[in-house]
Amino acid sequence: MLKIPSPSRRVWPRFIMLVAAVAAAVVLLMLLLRQASTQLLQRDAEHVALAWAELASASIEDLEGIFRGEPPTPAAHRDLLRHRKVQEVFRFKLFDRDGRVVLVSDDLDRPAPVVKDNTIGHGNAKVRDLVLNGKHVIELKQGQDASRPALYSEAYVPVMRGGRVIGVVEVYVDQAERAQRIQAAFGLVAAGVFALLGALTTVFCGWWYRRLKAERAAEERARYLSRHDVLSGLLNRSSFNEALDEAAWRHAGGGPGFSVLCVDLDHFKEVNDTQGHAAGDDMLRQVGDRLRALVRQGDRVARLASDEFALLLSGATAPESVTMLAERVIAALAEPFQIDRHSVSSGCSIGAAVFGVDASTPDEVLHKADLALQRAKQAGRGAFHFYDATLDRRLDDRRQLVRDLREAIGSPQMALHYQALYAADGRTVTGYEALLRWRHPVRGPIAPVDFIPLAEDSGLIAPLGRWVLETACAAAAGWPAPLTVAVNLSAAQFSQGDLVDVVRAALEASGLEAARLEVEITESLLLGHTEEVTGTLRALDALGVKIAMDDFGTGYSSLSYLWRFPFHKVKIDRSFTLHLADDPKVRLIVRSIVSLARSLGLRVNAEGVENEAQLKLLQEQGCDELQGFLLARPLPLEALTHPETADVERG
Ligand code: C2E
Ligand code: MG
Ligand code: MG
Repeated sequence: MLKIPSPSRRVWPRFIMLVAAVAAAVVLLMLLLRQASTQLLQRDAEHVALAWAELASASIEDLEGIFRGEPPTPAAHRDLLRHRKVQEVFRFKLFDRDGRVVLVSDDLDRPAPVVKDNTIGHGNAKVRDLVLNGKHVIELKQGQDASRPALYSEAYVPVMRGGRVIGVVEVYVDQAERAQRIQAAFGLVAAGVFALLGALTTVFCGWWYRRLKAERAAEERARYLSRHDVLSGLLNRSSFNEALDEAAWRHAGGGPGFSVLCVDLDHFKEVNDTQGHAAGDDMLRQVGDRLRALVRQGDRVARLASDEFALLLSGATAPESVTMLAERVIAALAEPFQIDRHSVSSGCSIGAAVFGVDASTPDEVLHKADLALQRAKQAGRGAFHFYDATLDRRLDDRRQLVRDLREAIGSPQMALHYQALYAADGRTVTGYEALLRWRHPVRGPIAPVDFIPLAEDSGLIAPLGRWVLETACAAAAGWPAPLTVAVNLSAAQFSQGDLVDVVRAALEASGLEAARLEVEITESLLLGHTEEVTGTLRALDALGVKIAMDDFGTGYSSLSYLWRFPFHKVKIDRSFTLHLADDPKVRLIVRSIVSLARSLGLRVNAEGVENEAQLKLLQEQGCDELQGFLLARPLPLEALTHPETADVERG
């Protein structure tokens, strides 16, 4: 199952990263502005100091002497006093070429200097060395008391003569105002940048929000698709399994029990094949809607495979409540579906299993409901069945029997017995009906009515039917002509597509004349695939093989079959023979069948003659052929004696 992390869980780290990035950008910008402001102020201070030093060295008399430590002349003293406050300069110091202070502007008014032990950079050797080597050094400072401006620079400018440093001036530059102006200008820049950053962040967040919403919607959709069947919108198999797990887990924790219904549409394939896949899809959607409408909140409905649905009924464990819901589902799906302005009916079969009763694990309860469904389908369409334990054994048994049957085909376990068919006189044998016998090594004899359906369901009817045809034809080829052999064909043999070839091959291999082979079919064959079956029957007729309608009167007994298909004979089912003596109505029916068959040019056989009374009555009704235990039981080939045969006009 696809696991998709919730988008909200991924948003926060991303958002925090975005905020951190913006904060980092702001801090960086502040640092840059600060740096730029310091540099500007230093450059400004340097510029002022240089101008002052140039002015001083040009205008102060014998500055060289002062640097050497000589006292200034009165003219020089006046100049120095004048230079004490020039524009932003509010103080200065003069140092000799070794970096010792020789004059401080504050002392010009005093009779004796106050500070004498000052050195360049207040003892900072690095600053001193730089300056004495001809470099300008600007130190930005904050005023600590009222004697200093809030912000000022101490600029050391060496004074050179003939390429040598003759002394150093230290100029104190008031930069409070300048700093304010720079701050104001930078404030404007910062405000602009912040506004831009804010706008960009807003636009980005807007875009991001929309993207997130789209992502969330896509993830929701992916999550939905991974849990649901796209066509019907019901849960899919994996999420139904999860729902089963959850229900089992809740039950283990004292929650309600539950049951599972497996629902299979009875005629979906026909709808799909005849009306097209779009119609099939439409029908499945409607089935989904109907099922959803039937269940209660807390129940789950899923589509497991093409036309297979499953319901988890929470709290429903009593057989009555499960049965009631199953019946409602059967009734709801029996209602016709409106597809493409056509009304289409399907119906369904249902199997149910109860958790905790029929199964103890989620997988098992689904499996058992499915087994119950198989049983419901076998019982006929539109049926509902609960799981029962014997079912498992029966299915195992059946699977084993299919394996045994596969091995039995062509082995001595399988044999054909032949029951003689008599002419109306009850003495003359006209031919034999081949009847299959299976002697199972463990179970003993198994009746054809039990294993023929097994062969049909498992696909084994094709090799089995071929073997019967080949064996019967080979046997009949050894009988005196015109004795015939009748072989029963199952409807499933017609859907193999090669029945005509198989019959032709059996005739050729045995050398039996086609007219001496008769195939018996039942009405059930004619109910479906009419085109294909008609084609095969006509091809068999064209081969010269005779065709008999077996067990007539037990099925739909549609008289139309008798003239629409190329029959040569009708075999009246033995249930009529059985009631012939005691029910005049049966006699009437038999007489009608005989007269109808006569007028259509068909021969009439009566099956199941067990006593003289029946024999007599059937002779009176005008039957052409008689068959039954009274006359002969089915016998193995080697037991046949062919005492008396007749060259009976046939077909
Ligand atoms: P069916 O074709 O109607 O065969 C006649 C059945 O009636 C045979 O049963 C036969 O033994 C039985 N029978 C004959 N006379 C009497 C009688 O007087 N009284 C009673 N009670 N029964 C009588 P069997 O051999 O058990 O076969 C049952 C059915 O199995 C057959 O019915 C036929 O439909 C099918 N079958 C038999 N062999 C084959 C085969 O080789 N292929 C196919 N596809 N079906 C076969
Ligand atoms: Mg038969
Ligand atoms: Mg029959």
